Amino acid sequence: MLGLMMSQPLRIAGLIEHAAKWHGDTEIVTRLTEGGIHRYTYADAHRRSQQLAGALTALGVSMGDRVGTLAWNNHRHFELYYGISGMGAVCHTINPRLFPEQLVYIINHAQDRYIFFDLTFLPLVEKLAPACPHVLGWVLMSDQAHLPADTSLPLLLCYEDLLNEQPAGFNWPVFDENTASSLCYTSGTTDQPKGVLYSHRSTLLHSYAAGLPDCFNCSVRDVILPVVPMFHVNAWGIPYLAPLIGCKLVLPGPGLDAASLFELFEAEGVTFSAGVPTIWFGLLTFMREKQARFSTLGKMIVGGSSCPPALLKAFDVELGVTIRHAWGMTETSPLGTVNTLKSRQLSLSPDEQFAIQTKQGRAIFGVDMKIVDDSGAELPHNGVAFGDLLVRGPFIVADYFRSSSPGELTQDGWFRTGDVATIDADGFLNITDRSKDVIKSGGEWISSIDLENLAVAHPAVAEAAVIGVPHPKWGERPLLIVVCKPGQDVSPEELLAFFDGKVASWWKPDAVEFVNQLPHTATGKLLKTRLRQDFAGYTLAV
Ligand code: AMP
Repeated sequence: MLGLMMSQPLRIAGLIEHAAKWHGDTEIVTRLTEGGIHRYTYADAHRRSQQLAGALTALGVSMGDRVGTLAWNNHRHFELYYGISGMGAVCHTINPRLFPEQLVYIINHAQDRYIFFDLTFLPLVEKLAPACPHVLGWVLMSDQAHLPADTSLPLLLCYEDLLNEQPAGFNWPVFDENTASSLCYTSGTTDQPKGVLYSHRSTLLHSYAAGLPDCFNCSVRDVILPVVPMFHVNAWGIPYLAPLIGCKLVLPGPGLDAASLFELFEAEGVTFSAGVPTIWFGLLTFMREKQARFSTLGKMIVGGSSCPPALLKAFDVELGVTIRHAWGMTETSPLGTVNTLKSRQLSLSPDEQFAIQTKQGRAIFGVDMKIVDDSGAELPHNGVAFGDLLVRGPFIVADYFRSSSPGELTQDGWFRTGDVATIDADGFLNITDRSKDVIKSGGEWISSIDLENLAVAHPAVAEAAVIGVPHPKWGERPLLIVVCKPGQDVSPEELLAFFDGKVASWWKPDAVEFVNQLPHTATGKLLKTRLRQDFAGYTLAV
């Protein structure tokens, strides 16, 4: 017997309709790529998203077509999220930090019909265009005044002109909630990037989950500034969550340096932000140098890579900002786990609580997870047993877009994350490594992430990476590779002594190498494949 409730399909256009109707005068503030601050409201954003959908229809874009974006966090990108998906096409956000060859691969693989790009990326798209024959037109996300006098682009269109030609009041079509809505490619370090194709249903369910008190815990009274880019994993769902709750949204544009961010936090009364650890380390240094304090910022989500305990503590103790550590991936929409304490953990000592808070947190509703050994057998939740992390749920990828290779699903339908983790008795996940990065010493695993987190707690260390290098007796041993803070110095012996008493002695790295910088992926994660190549012939003193 079926229930007797209305079966309105979950659609992304419904979010912006809701915000325009019930929070029509709430602001969206953008620091523009062209310079200056832009302000408007959800009602304006809705009207312009509708005009955009009309313009796309006029350009011949139809249901299921892919439309690419190469853009910062700004109001036009926000309109693209709604205009493209709302009309039934697929909003393909592209990460401009990828190598040009990867961008060409992605655009051709997705068969994008149009690409919308920010002014910053004009030289980039001029370079890409000759290799992207499927693209019918390139749309500059600006006005006439900023159109280049001369360009090699085959068909250059102007965003504001496209919108001005459209009347208000596009009727959002109603379609199956499983219709594809958006596409994001994972930045593979060795393989070609793979496309994760989200649906309206998965996006809406993820948005509900993101708003929960034990997740982002945001309400209509918050002011959210996503530092996490809209060009990668939908800025962790914030562009959907903000209209769902109707709160003010602040979009920082290209200015992601600490001074610009701080200025915007203060000027707009930002209460909540989200981003990767590197951004927050930069902000912390700035705040210390300027002896500055936030007037309104009170909570942050940190994820994308492991949040070093030193960062968590500094924000909490020095700046009064609570960090929630979260784990997720492109394939999980991206939220998987978020760290908040359970009520009985509130009676633990501050140190015990802090030890829990450094973990990646508990599964949110909609994400089921387990850890398994090499044979696929489930491992206990005791906080000690390491295993491959598998997840499943309604906003987790089932297969990659136009993929010829088998996906990452187990026979019984779990997604292999490629991460190695422990889960404790309270359900807190602790990511110890990517499976390709684990260090196996004498048959036992050493967590490179734990060692990196410890190394960056040393006052002279700006960034650290740990990789396994061959060892005749133990198979592999950890090598610590370090970038020092400007003007700071530390000897290898002193740095290694810093690990004493903080990890089991056999976890301690065997050697330290100093470098000027570490290689990163396009999403800011340590590129350990490159480090392993760079240190391929490394021999440890035995
Ligand atoms: P991406 O798909 O680019 O967002 O990358 C997802 C991967 O980033 C995950 O599979 C993890 O390896 C890593 N990651 C994300 N969040 C965390 C975290 N909080 N701690 C450790 N690794 C993380």
